[in-house]
Amino acid sequence: MYKVSLEDDDTVIRIKRELMDQATVSRFLDLVNLAAVLEQSRFAEAKEKIVARMLGIPNGAALLRDPVLNKDAAFTEAEREQLGLRGLLPARVQTMEEQVMRTVENFRRKPNDIEKYLFLIGLQDRNKTLFYRVVIDYIEEMMPIIYTPTVGQACLEYGHIFRRPRGIFISAKDRGRMPELLRNWPYRDIRIIVVTDGERILGLGDLGADGMGIPVGKLALYTACAGIHHSLSLPVTLDVGTENEALLNDPLYIGLKQRRLRGAAYDDFVEEFIVAVAEVFPRTVVQFEDFGNLNAFRLLERYRERLCAFNDDIQGTAAVALAGIYSALRLKGGKLSEQKFLFVGAGEAGHGAAELMVAALAAEGLSVEEARQRCWFVDSKGLVVKSRSDLSGRKLRYAHDYEFIHDLPAVVESLKPTALIGVSGKRGLFTRPVLEAMARLNDRPIIFPLSNPTSKAECTAEAAYSATAGRAIFASGSPFAPVILNGKKLVPAQGNNVYIFPGVGLGLIACGARQVTDEMFLVAAKTLAHEVSADDLETGSVYPPLTRIREVSAAIAAAVAEVAYQRGLATKPQPDDLLAHIKSLRYEPQYQSYV
Ligand code: NAD
Repeated sequence: MYKVSLEDDDTVIRIKRELMDQATVSRFLDLVNLAAVLEQSRFAEAKEKIVARMLGIPNGAALLRDPVLNKDAAFTEAEREQLGLRGLLPARVQTMEEQVMRTVENFRRKPNDIEKYLFLIGLQDRNKTLFYRVVIDYIEEMMPIIYTPTVGQACLEYGHIFRRPRGIFISAKDRGRMPELLRNWPYRDIRIIVVTDGERILGLGDLGADGMGIPVGKLALYTACAGIHHSLSLPVTLDVGTENEALLNDPLYIGLKQRRLRGAAYDDFVEEFIVAVAEVFPRTVVQFEDFGNLNAFRLLERYRERLCAFNDDIQGTAAVALAGIYSALRLKGGKLSEQKFLFVGAGEAGHGAAELMVAALAAEGLSVEEARQRCWFVDSKGLVVKSRSDLSGRKLRYAHDYEFIHDLPAVVESLKPTALIGVSGKRGLFTRPVLEAMARLNDRPIIFPLSNPTSKAECTAEAAYSATAGRAIFASGSPFAPVILNGKKLVPAQGNNVYIFPGVGLGLIACGARQVTDEMFLVAAKTLAHEVSADDLETGSVYPPLTRIREVSAAIAAAVAEVAYQRGLATKPQPDDLLAHIKSLRYEPQYQSYV
């Protein structure tokens, strides 16, 4: 096997000479051709590996087994001839459209969602180009399978449905050798890492190493929704143990069977990981995902200025919630400063959303104190108020001078919020009395049960619309089907950070941002809201349809990169037309010619 260095033309020339000696020139020219095509398709990073691998390929069988290069029956006659594929494929060359048709037919035939998930993951393992083509072309049908809610079910069953590892697992046993582990990843140029320690997977709690389904799913969406090439991304699970008794007792659990690292041991472990990332993948963005509440805030504060890092649960969710509120105001009228937000759940998502709301209100001229007065919290004990002695940290910022009320219906009656934002991870908290009270108090109540997966939603779309006679402005973290009420079709929007993180990531990569700032999430929220059309609003949806997600993500990417340029945080030269430049960077799943 030859070692080929990327930027190194000399190496290519050297290999060419060596190969000439071996009288395999034509084969090499094929490879150079391939490399050129890949380069042109912004796949340069993979060139090294692919060229090296192709040099070692004895026959077409290896090509069929390579998920990046495989085209299945779409290999052309010439490719079959020259790459040793004759006989390994049925005679008729198929188009990608035909392959997509077959894939979707098979997908729909699967008896349940987890089988559909396994089918898609299998396709991802076999033929990435076709996988992404299908996901992009059928995004509304595929998203609930590769993402919430089905990915939640997949994580719950991960050890039992596990077939093939994806991403890098770094366990508590790997102290002292993390750079080595990261270097085992087959790609060198990584631009986006999604990392979890599995402590709070969706609203499902501590799933330990089984949480790997989340980084894998999120990164698939980076590719599908923003066009970041899959070779540039890396899912990572920090396996620091689990407190989940069922997993500790499950013989098929894939992670370390030990209690979670805590305190200094945990911090040192994460620190070593971050240092290793900076050493091995210095150009990468790091997205923290589904960490437990305390660690999530701490890690974000510790690392957000040291590297280009953000926490999707805190910051991404905030932007999607704020965008939904901006759209809701177009529907109901009124100003942001006239709203009263009641966050049900006072964790990562709730506090992230409130802080961004405060930033948005401050931009409208309110003082931070006045802005915080518009935001109220209910946690597992009841209304967050000054008189409580059990509050600490962030909650204190929102502990207003008010009587303590325990029950949510009574809180709603007393406070009269205009918007109810569910980020508790607790199913059914928005009961009929809560929803009816919101309907009584507001002409157009804003009801956002954002908890995931569907089984943890604070209420269903049906419940919200029926209790409010269809007046609710609704968005949920996981998708709900349209509801017909009194002959009118109401389309519940999916208030999920998938509208935000792919675009933010693309923007950061495009400009080579050194840091991620809150301002970037504020512009991301505004841009997303701007992408909502009058037609979307007409159906009751406060977000654009998922079918437009690539356009939306590109717009968000441009807005985020613009902030980076304005604030001196970009490391790449600013292009004249940022949006066009960003669009030109996007990966489009199409088969390349290899001959
Ligand atoms: P977290 O653990 O940080 O916070 C959960 C909060 O809910 C805690 O403050 C807890 O006290 C509170 N809570 C628990 N039971 C409650 C009850 N009965 N009444 C009121 N509050 C209660 O978790 P998080 O990261 O904030 O996530 C919470 C939920 O939001 C999860 O289900 C998650 O999937 C969802 N989420 C959705 C999105 C999205 O894009 N839609 C993004 C991130 C998180």
